[in-house]
This record gives sequence, structure tokens and C-alpha cells, in this order.
Amino acid sequence: MTVRVPVLIVGGGPVGLALAGELGWRGVPCTLIEKTDGSIEQPKMDLVGIRTMEFCRRWGILDWVRDAPYPLDYPQDYIYITALNGFELAREPFPGRGFEEIPQESPQNRQRVPQDMFDPILRRFAERSGLATLRYNCELVSLTETPDGVRAEIKTAARTETIEADYAIGADGGGSTVREQLGIGMSGNPALTYTTNVMFRCPDFSALHDKGQGYRFIFIGPEGVWLTIVAVNGGDRFRMSIVGTPQKIGHTEDDIRGALTRAMGREFDYDILSVMRWVRRELVADRYGTERIFLAGDAAHLMSPTGGFGMNTGIGDAVDLGWKLEAVHKGWGGAGLLASYEAERRPVGLRNVAEASRNLRRMLSTRERLPGPEIFQPGAASDAARKDYGEWFAAIMRHEWFANGIMLGYRYDDSPIVAPDGTPAPPDLSHPYTQTARPGARAPHVWLNDGRSTLDLFGRGFALLRVGDAPSGAAIEQSAKMRGVPLTVVELNEPGVLAAYQRRLVLVRPDGHVAWRADEEPANALALIDTVRGQSIQHAKQRQGQTS
Ligand SMILES: Cc1cc2nc3c(=O)[nH]c(=O)nc-3n(C[C@H](O)[C@H](O)[C@H](O)COP(=O)(O)OP(=O)(O)OC[C@H]3O[C@@H](n4cnc5c(N)ncnc54)[C@H](O)[C@@H]3O)c2cc1C
Repeated sequence: MTVRVPVLIVGGGPVGLALAGELGWRGVPCTLIEKTDGSIEQPKMDLVGIRTMEFCRRWGILDWVRDAPYPLDYPQDYIYITALNGFELAREPFPGRGFEEIPQESPQNRQRVPQDMFDPILRRFAERSGLATLRYNCELVSLTETPDGVRAEIKTAARTETIEADYAIGADGGGSTVREQLGIGMSGNPALTYTTNVMFRCPDFSALHDKGQGYRFIFIGPEGVWLTIVAVNGGDRFRMSIVGTPQKIGHTEDDIRGALTRAMGREFDYDILSVMRWVRRELVADRYGTERIFLAGDAAHLMSPTGGFGMNTGIGDAVDLGWKLEAVHKGWGGAGLLASYEAERRPVGLRNVAEASRNLRRMLSTRERLPGPEIFQPGAASDAARKDYGEWFAAIMRHEWFANGIMLGYRYDDSPIVAPDGTPAPPDLSHPYTQTARPGARAPHVWLNDGRSTLDLFGRGFALLRVGDAPSGAAIEQSAKMRGVPLTVVELNEPGVLAAYQRRLVLVRPDGHVAWRADEEPANALALIDTVRGQSIQHAKQRQGQTS
């Protein structure tokens, strides 16, 4: 039995589901295969980053995220302690996810929604369009690229089948079969730490100590940071991570129970729900695919969870792929459009993987500046030492907790389908994040008088912003029409928009990144449209001197 589909997605984790939803939202049929039944034994991600929340806004699923069962008012404090019944060194307080302030650079805030709550939201999103066929208990066995498509052999409990597709995406996680089939290697550091995660249930956890409710407890012993416990569902479930070292180790059940007792400072009652032994890695795929097969999410990049960048980077991959696959499916995408996926997203993968490792090193810097013995003893002198050490550690950890620059500030500066404007690249900082409308950047958020965000103008096709007293942009509009490129002209007269965008004509791509900007009409509007749709990839570089 052989079926033919436009896009085959391998893997029904958050990235595969987001891509299926994004494609369905764009009117592109796809089939997703997932080798498991979709149930999640141990949720990994729980931070839905601010950019992912902007995508949820675009997709119209904010209510679903808000209504996820993670309590809106559960405090998100980060608490640095010697033990739950030991000493507190410092604390970074945060309100519950429903009450965190919305920053001025975005219409959204980040959310705490763990994978066993977020995957079902993404699945519902994927199913909503009616264009995504989700097939669970269905495993990819082999994948080959043919001159006009791809051919996948898949296995279900009942039989082996063939799926043919125009394009295939490997969103099949760190051990990606797709990556393996393509013979693509990964470079970086394959073992930062050998870590053991333990999910346990303890309904009266907060009553067993005096540190109050918080999202993450970070435990500092004489050897530095050795353990973390996070509130996985803001209720009765918690995840303990024995952080480990680069040396290979498999923590035994005795190690696990000993760690729980040491963390609490005494024995207590709990149920262990699951144990996951895993290796923290710092790896990026050497290539992001071929002409018709692409890697996304953990299949393309594996990073330390410090920062909560993994899934969020993967969803960024899915969004970059989404509009490009739509463009080629509908016939207006140029010959070089899909190749720009690697050019745009691999540098982001390298960037985010490196920052995640920096965050890990920050947390583990306690292993270099070890706490002295007084930190663990009562008394006023020890209180002063704890305050000093805690303030030092809290300042270091703020790099991880405040990282909107990583989440929102990734740019496609050197993309072949972006027309540079000759302005110098601003610094790429994790904090503070400063919005820019320089070509390649995420188009800035500005609140409009009618209550919408500028971000609400982007998504379906290209948007040509005419800001204030702008040239007509008619040549761009006509060129887009000639090439079949969907484009909407939007007139904006709010001064805040000009302040943020700095130019009167701004062309924004369907993914919400700036493709081109100037104060005058382009010298050659058709060449510009060909550049941004991936047909004339050399043109982007040539434009540099031609536009203001
Ligand atoms: C402890 C921990 C905490 C984390 N916290 C965060 C966080 O807060 N925020 C964040 O953004 N990231 C976080 N991450 C990272 C995040 O979980 C991953 O980046 C994310 O799950 C990757 O999603 P994915 O869909 O690419 O891959 P996966 O989640 O690995 O999904 C891949 C899917 O493909 C399926 N599959 C594999 N092979 C096949 C095959 N041959 N055929 C069919 N199906 C196949 C698998 O069954 C799986 O369901 C964390 C990671 C860990 C370990």
C-alpha cells in the first residue's frame, strides 16, 4: 500500500506537532507519524518561551495555553538552598505564570506549561485544520530521496507501508532515524553531564519544609550545585535531577532515594513515578538536510536544558520551514527557498546550544567557587557568609532567568533571502533585548491604537508596511502579484511604529521577520520579490549598495 502526501513529518513530539499545526494553518496537507502512542511518561520541557507564545497568539491558541492545568498563581521562584530543611542562600522571586508582567517588547509573556500539557495543545492545534493526518504507533524504518520526492517505509503493528511525499521533515528527536538515514553527523560535545531525572509524587511537599512554593529549588552542597527539584505541575508532582558530571555514571535506586532524603534534610514519603537517565549534550547537526528532507528540533540540535531553549528553538525551526513549504507547495517559492532553511536556522541552533552550555557553566561555577563549611552551619557569621555567597550566585543565575534576547533576538543577518540595508549589526545580547527592524530580525512589536500588536499583522503572507508618509510601494505590490506571492499592504500612521521600524517601507515575511526596508521604492521591485521568495539568492548581497 502506497500513499502520496505533500509533506511527511517524522516524530510527534512538540516540534513535529507544531509543524503539523503550522502547515495545517497554512493550508498545506501533511502526514505525521509517531512511533509511540503519544503518551508522555516523563515531561521534559516546561517553559513555553516568549517567542513560542507569540506563535501561539498567531495560531489563535492562547486560550488553550492559558487553560492548561498548571495553576496560574503557582509561584515561579528560583530558590537556592543547602536543603529544603536547611539554609536558604538566595531567591529570585517570580509570580505565577498568569501574573508575570508582559514585557514592552512583546504582546505575550512566557508560560510554564509542561510537555504533558503542551503536547496535547499542539496536537489539538494540528488536528484543528483537518489537513494534518496524525498516525501514532507508526514508525519510520527507512527514508530515501528520489528525483521528485521522498519515499518512506513505515511500520505499524499490523503491517509495513510506503508513504511517498514531496518533502519530509525529521522531527524525530535526538536519536533521529532521519538524520541517520541521511548520514548527517553532529558536532560539538556529546557528554556535558550524565544526569538522572526522577519524577516523584508528594502531595504535601510544601508542608514538609519552610521554603514555600517555588518552581525550581537548586541545591548547593560542599561540592557545589549537585541537584535540582522543579515543580512539574504546580501541584503534587516534582522532578528531581541529579546533575552529575561528564563522567559516565548510572545512579542506582539507592542513590536516588539517598538524594531525595539529602534534599529534604530528612526521610519523607513519596512515590517514584519514573526515572530517566540521560546525557546532557551540546551538539548541532552538520547539515540541516538535503533538497527534500530537513531536520528540525532535537534531530538538528541537542542542548542542555539550562535556559529552556530546546523545544523553543525547535518550534522556531518549524515556523521557518512552515511558510517555505507552503510557498513551494503553492508554487510561488523560488528554487533556493528551502535551502535558506539551513542558512537561517543552523546559526540559530549553534547560538542557542552555546548559550545553553554557558548557562550550565554558570550553574556549575559553584563547583569552582566552592561554598565554605560555614555556609552549612547555623549562626550570625554563617548568615553573612550565606548572604554573600547567595548574592554572588543569584547574580550569575540571572543570565538564565532573563534571556529574552535569546528567545526573541535571533536574526537571519546572513540569509540569502534577506535584503540587507547596509546598517551595522546590533549586538546579540541575551539581556537586555532591544528590538530592531534591521532586515533579518524579528519585526518589532508595537501596540497599535486599535489594540492590536504589529505582530498581529504578520503570518499569512508577506506584509508591506507603509509607515506614515511612505512611498506607494505599488511596484512591490505589482511584482508580488506577478510572481503569485501573497502580499498585503498595511498603512500605519502611529509614530511608535516609525520609531521601532525606522523606515517608511518595510517588507515583513510570513514568519514575522523583516525581509527588506527602505525609505524609497526599491530600484528593482521584481528582483526584490525574487530575492525574498528564494528565486534570486545572489540578489540579496547585490542590493546592499542599491537601497538606502
Ligand atoms: C529535563 C529537560 C527539561 C527541558 N526543559 C525544556 C524547556 O523548559 N523548554 C524547552 O524549550 N525545552 C526544554 N527541554 C528540551 C525539549 O524537551 C526538547 O528540545 C524537545 O522535546 C524537542 O522536541 P522534538 O519534537 O524535536 O523531539 P522529541 O521531543 O524528542 O520528540 C521526537 C519524537 O519522535 C518520535 N520518533 C523518534 N524516532 C521515530 C521514528 N523512527 N518514527 C516515528 N517516530 C519517531 C519519538 O517517539 C518522539 O515522540 C528540556 C529537556 C530536558 C531533558
